[in-house]
Amino acid sequence: MGFPSFYYGVILPKPLILVMQLLDCLQQCIFISLLQVGLLQYQPTPGFSSPPDPVASAIKNRLQVARFSTLHKELRNGEESVCAVCLAALEARHEVRKLGNCSHLFHKGCIDKWVELGQVTCPLCRSPLLPKGQTCHYYM
Ligand SMILES: [Zn+2]
Ligand SMILES: [Zn+2]
Repeated sequence: MGFPSFYYGVILPKPLILVMQLLDCLQQCIFISLLQVGLLQYQPTPGFSSPPDPVASAIKNRLQVARFSTLHKELRNGEESVCAVCLAALEARHEVRKLGNCSHLFHKGCIDKWVELGQVTCPLCRSPLLPKGQTCHYYM
């Protein structure tokens, strides 16, 4: 009697939700087309396919690599026959790197990982990995 048999209040929000969904969809479409056109730069995940650290590769290039058997003769008392990074013995067939300043020996793979972590000093004695100025005068 005078009251409507349906409620606008129930019906009205539905178109609003549809409009919101449409706007959301449009926003995504615009974003995607901007990406495709190249106006937006998609940021790749940090660390993914990053270029190698130039300092690390320079150090690795300058550190002597040799079979442990060839360096073994130079060692005094055999005191340096353990890799201080992995604490495993250096064996004759292992590839090792000899540090420029302190002549400490490490597995090639172990010291490479150490250098890639941004380290520039010997893991054992903290001497710089390379002689000062990276020249040969240290040995002369
Ligand atoms: Zn090692
Ligand atoms: Zn050292």
